[in-house]
Amino acid sequence: MKGTIAVGAGDGIGPEIIVEGVKVLKAVEKKYGHEFTLKYFDIGGVSIDKFGTPLTDENVQLCRDSDAFLHGSVGGPKWDYLGSKAYTNTCGLQIRKEFDVYANLRPAKVYPGMEGCSPLKSETVKGMDLVVVRENTGGAYFGLPKKQWVEKGVRWAVDTMLYSEPQIERILRVGFELARLRRKKIASVEKQNVTETGKLWRAMAIEMSKEYPDVQLEHVLADACTAWLLRNPAKFDVLVMANLYGDIISDEAAAISGSLGMGGSAQLAGLPTGNERAWGFYESAHGSAPDIAGQGIANPIATILSVGYMLEYTYGLHQEAEAIDKAVAKAVVQHRTTDIMEEGKTAVNTIEMGDLIAAAI
Ligand code: NAD
Repeated sequence: MKGTIAVGAGDGIGPEIIVEGVKVLKAVEKKYGHEFTLKYFDIGGVSIDKFGTPLTDENVQLCRDSDAFLHGSVGGPKWDYLGSKAYTNTCGLQIRKEFDVYANLRPAKVYPGMEGCSPLKSETVKGMDLVVVRENTGGAYFGLPKKQWVEKGVRWAVDTMLYSEPQIERILRVGFELARLRRKKIASVEKQNVTETGKLWRAMAIEMSKEYPDVQLEHVLADACTAWLLRNPAKFDVLVMANLYGDIISDEAAAISGSLGMGGSAQLAGLPTGNERAWGFYESAHGSAPDIAGQGIANPIATILSVGYMLEYTYGLHQEAEAIDKAVAKAVVQHRTTDIMEEGKTAVNTIEMGDLIAAAI
């Protein structure tokens, strides 16, 4: 198979973790006989420094001309301060909107033997293996009005949590379809007790569940969901929710699973069907970690797992995707970066972890 991938390493630890993601991709290429052309470009702070914007139109086009976009991470105090003229995070939002990647899949799983990395008790997290399906292009992050203003000397601000029936329908469908491919359980997460969007969301989940009699539907209020994740994360399979809740709850799930450095993601315009390539935006769930950038200690696994999701969802290469997951599982049995270090394990740096996973492919 031949493919073209746009690669934006970004800022902070972005370039360090992208190198390892690409290393593992090359190992897959070699073993399975594929050929991926990588097109590198500047994104985030480095792009602001060069072009005055975190993402140029030419580079949006480069992403459009590729099968997928593999992203490191962007941001840092140099650009992201209160009152900054060019925040780095607008580039991610722009790509989501431009490519309508409305479904953000954020898996969170505890690899066997890594239970001790979780901030929760090992017996509580054992068996945790879930996917947060976050609505990615609507809700409170995109709804209008969205502004700040002053009235009679008082400052006001508004964000609007706005959802249409088609927006909710398509994200719930991704959740139901994904649950069908997994353990056939879906938790629909909303705040129907206090929000109108939540009421519509729940009504539609009930209606759509009739099309999926094989999938067990559960309704969970978003606040209760954060508590359930702490008490019994292994009870969940697929969780589907609005943008704002998904942003928060997927970070909580990643942290519970051991480290932000273990959480990859796939942003898609729906679950691919058939053999066509589905354009996707793949990145770790964490940020650019300026506090550890340049030290060579960042965990590259989130990015490596994201490469696996790219092979799965954009290229339909299930065996190759599974090989990456298994290689990660094998590497972490004994070797750990600082963020997931435990007694009795061997400490490795970013490059060594990438080498181990690539070798295990
Ligand atoms: P962060 O995720 O960068 O870091 C939070 C903590 O987790 C830090 O202590 C960091 O060292 C640690 N950490 C994160 N990734 C790690 C890894 N792979 N290995 C080991 N430790 C890791 O969040 P933050 O500090 O709030 O944000 C830093 C910058 O990243 C900000 O400018 C923010 O806007 C940006 N950001 C970017 C993205 C993105 O590019 N998609 C996402 C979130 C935040």
